[in-house]
Amino acid sequence: MTDLPPPSARKLGLVIDLDTCVGCHACAVACKEWNSGGISGPLTDENPYGKDPIGVWFNRVHSYEVEALDDQPAMTLHFPRSCLHCETPACVSVCPTGASYKRAEDGIVLVDEDKCIGCKLCSWACPYGAREYSEVEGVMKKCTLCVDRIYNENIPEQSRQPACVQACPTRARHFGDLGDPDSAVSLLVAARGGVDLMPELGYAPVNQYLPPRPRRAGSSLPASAPKEILDEQQLPPLLRWLDRALSR
Ligand code: SF4
Ligand code: SF4
Repeated sequence: MTDLPPPSARKLGLVIDLDTCVGCHACAVACKEWNSGGISGPLTDENPYGKDPIGVWFNRVHSYEVEALDDQPAMTLHFPRSCLHCETPACVSVCPTGASYKRAEDGIVLVDEDKCIGCKLCSWACPYGAREYSEVEGVMKKCTLCVDRIYNENIPEQSRQPACVQACPTRARHFGDLGDPDSAVSLLVAARGGVDLMPELGYAPVNQYLPPRPRRAGSSLPASAPKEILDEQQLPPLLRWLDRALSR
C-alpha cells in the first residue's frame, strides 16, 4: 500500500462551470491530442471504427437531461469528468507498488507507469471513474493536470495551463491553486458556491464544480400581463415580409 504525503499548501486543480459548459468535447479532444504527443505517451485506441471501440481518455463529457423541478425548467446538463486530484485519494493508498502517488509539492496525483503492474486496484478504489486502463500497454493512466505543460518553460507562459482549459471555447474550465484562498479560482468558487463531488466519501476532491445558475422559466408571465401586439404597418418593409414569412 502507498503512503500519502502530508497535505500540501499548494493544491493545483480545475474549476468547471456547469453553467457555461456546452458539451462540445473540445476539452476531451485537446486532452487526447496533447497527451498522445507529450511525455505521457500515446493514449491508445483499439478498434476505433468497429462495433466495440475501446480507448483511453483522461477527460470524458457526459450529457444528462434534467427534468423540470419546482420553478426550474427542464435542461440539458453537460458534465465533464476527469481526475479530481483528491486530497486523500484511495486510488493512491490502495496501490501495492507505489506506482500511484500524490505529489507533496502541488498535490497532483500521478501514475509512474514503470512501477504499475496493471492490477487495477486504483480504478476499483476511485469512485469517480477517473482511472483509465490501457489494454495495449497493460498499465493504468489518468489525468496528469498537464504536468508537462504547466511547468514547461519551453512554451509561452500564457500556454502553461492544462490543454483542456486552453481549448474550452466557453471558458467553462479554470485552472489554479485552490489551496490559496486569494487565487482567482478560489475567489470564483467562493462567489459561485462551488461544490465538491460526493464529499460524503471523504476523498476531499481538489477540483470544484460550479452549479448551473437558476434558469428563467419560459412561460412565467402572469396571466394579467398585457399581450404584446405587433403593429405590422409600423415595421420597415423587410421586417414586414419577415414577420409574414415566420407567421405562416
Ligand atoms: Fe484518485 Fe479518483 Fe480522486 Fe483522481 S478522482 S485522485 S483517480 S480517487
Ligand atoms: Fe498501482 Fe498500477 Fe495497480 Fe493502479 S493498476 S493500483 S497504479 S499497480
